[in-house]
Amino acid sequence: EFGSIGFIGLGNMGSRMANNLVNAGYRVAVHDINHDAMKIFADKGVPTKDTPLDVAEASDVVISMLPSSSHVSEVYTGSKGVLHGGKSLRPWLLIDCSTIDPQTSRRVSALVSNCTLKENKDTTKAPMMLDAPVSGGVPAAEAGTLTFMVGGEEEAYLAAKPLLLSMGKSAVYCGSAGNGSAAKICNNLALAVSMLGVSEALALGQSLGIKASVLTRIFNSSSARCWSSDAYNPVPGVMDGVPSSRNYEGGFASKLMVKDLGLAAASAKEVGARHPLATQVTEMYSKICEEGHEMKDFSCVFRYLYSGVDE
Ligand code: NAD
Repeated sequence: EFGSIGFIGLGNMGSRMANNLVNAGYRVAVHDINHDAMKIFADKGVPTKDTPLDVAEASDVVISMLPSSSHVSEVYTGSKGVLHGGKSLRPWLLIDCSTIDPQTSRRVSALVSNCTLKENKDTTKAPMMLDAPVSGGVPAAEAGTLTFMVGGEEEAYLAAKPLLLSMGKSAVYCGSAGNGSAAKICNNLALAVSMLGVSEALALGQSLGIKASVLTRIFNSSSARCWSSDAYNPVPGVMDGVPSSRNYEGGFASKLMVKDLGLAAASAKEVGARHPLATQVTEMYSKICEEGHEMKDFSCVFRYLYSGVDE
């Protein structure tokens, strides 16, 4: 039993996730700084709140889905933030699903664990926080088939699981606070590199006279096979139903990939980890954005490498 759920951040992803919670029968209240985003929910009879603090005071569980680390800091620790009502909180569970750096996730989680639960006789009991970023994108948010990567106390993960599974198809426990965020940015770093590797190799193949469709068949039964080659191929016409086959529309925007690579590079720097590829691939994806393709799917990096026509 989750009681009242407060959802903060009703953008492309959050609006669909909150909708799935409403459709699953949960009692949900919402907040966004964008009044138009809130109005869509108000029109359906979903209560709206003016500030994150108002959400916290009315909710047993708070979920947030915000653009980046600074927004998450503002929503939790700002002057009208979730944690601004004093050390005693009503929500026993806070779940941040935004893609942010693990350091920010850990900082907010530590602040939450210094609080106590309102109206709980056991004053040692603290509210619990999870970082639970997602993979799957807008279509999966809409269909309720997201995958959550979850960091925080295992007890909180187990308690949150049914809620996560009404917005997604799976949830993976990654360990202590910040590890969900770490998993997400590491996944996207590997993805950015593999997409670029597949694109460069398929472009070279075409320049050497082998069709991308033929080379893809080879990759997919050889050691180069990966998600970028067999599920999300970057060359137009090789696969149906992927962004490359619809002029790179409707996928994972290049500018979001640049944002995630920035998080990976900044986190690597902070812990002194070598990150030569993060630096190099960020340059390539940033170039695409500068050339006006920031809203195109990141697989359009192929076009940056190959301007010929596959016959
Ligand atoms: P979005 O920009 O569409 O939505 C963010 C929402 O947060 C907006 O409605 C905005 O008004 C609201 N907001 C911003 N600051 C706020 C504040 N201080 N208080 C209240 N509301 C505030 O972003 P999105 O596409 O929904 O992505 C959300 C997160 O999910 C990002 O971290 C993104 O990297 C991640 N993500 C996105 C995708 C995708 O395909 N879009 C996929 C996986 C993960």
